[in-house]
Amino acid sequence: MPEQPEPVTNIDPDVPLFIFGDEVTEEQKEKIRNTTYRIIHFYADEYGVTLRKNVTFHAYVDYENFLEGYTEFHGEGATPEFLQWVRDSIEEERRITGRVSWGTFDGDGIFFLGSHIIENTRNLIHLIAHEYFHAYQTTDHERPYWFIEGSARYAEALALEYFGQPLDGPTGYYSKQAEINYVRGSDQSLEAIELNDDFFALDDSHVGYVLGRLGAEYLVDHYGGFEAIVEFYRDYGSNWEDLFEEAFGISINEFYREFGEYQSGGFQSN
Ligand SMILES: [Zn+2]
Repeated sequence: MPEQPEPVTNIDPDVPLFIFGDEVTEEQKEKIRNTTYRIIHFYADEYGVTLRKNVTFHAYVDYENFLEGYTEFHGEGATPEFLQWVRDSIEEERRITGRVSWGTFDGDGIFFLGSHIIENTRNLIHLIAHEYFHAYQTTDHERPYWFIEGSARYAEALALEYFGQPLDGPTGYYSKQAEINYVRGSDQSLEAIELNDDFFALDDSHVGYVLGRLGAEYLVDHYGGFEAIVEFYRDYGSNWEDLFEEAFGISINEFYREFGEYQSGGFQSN
């Protein structure tokens, strides 16, 4: 792995690739830039993942600076309701983890907040790799939501592996066995979480992420590798069910049936 990865620019070089809060140090900026460049090169070189539109990475440590920058970037798009939702999400995260730490991709920008993300290399890779893959998946919102999240989760695991980070880690976050244990016994189907409203209506949305990742991994293992996932998102003009069958060589209904059997058999592969 090169020490200094080649810099990357947006398709329109006038659109900045990075916007940093005033409080972000030079050292932090360097780390964010290098990590981002490496991830972009990794996805592009290994899988041909490139974006069709500009994206900007916005990094903040300070909560108030973040809210200000976010509001300014989105102009009229930053409605009071949306900003309230952002505040609520950050507060919920703070309640659970005790930290101000948050990241999202919202169509134009990848936003992240918190020194916990920037200082911890693993967290930084995890966030950038996940949200950048979402940027690749834009802007067709009609595709199954479980697959949008599941394939992004799978993609971030590939990036972590590339960086030499262990996938089973102390928390077992990417451990396939830990994920299987998490959803074993749940009769939640992938089909029922195709719509993002249904996905986020789950009592525990983590079940959706985990099942989605297992679904994506099943497709990788049996129907064409990660390349097929990249292929599925490459053309976003037509009917997603047709694109699914073209990319994986199996219809979505047949896949749901097969995955349902795999799930009810306790995720035993053969
Ligand atoms: Zn996501």
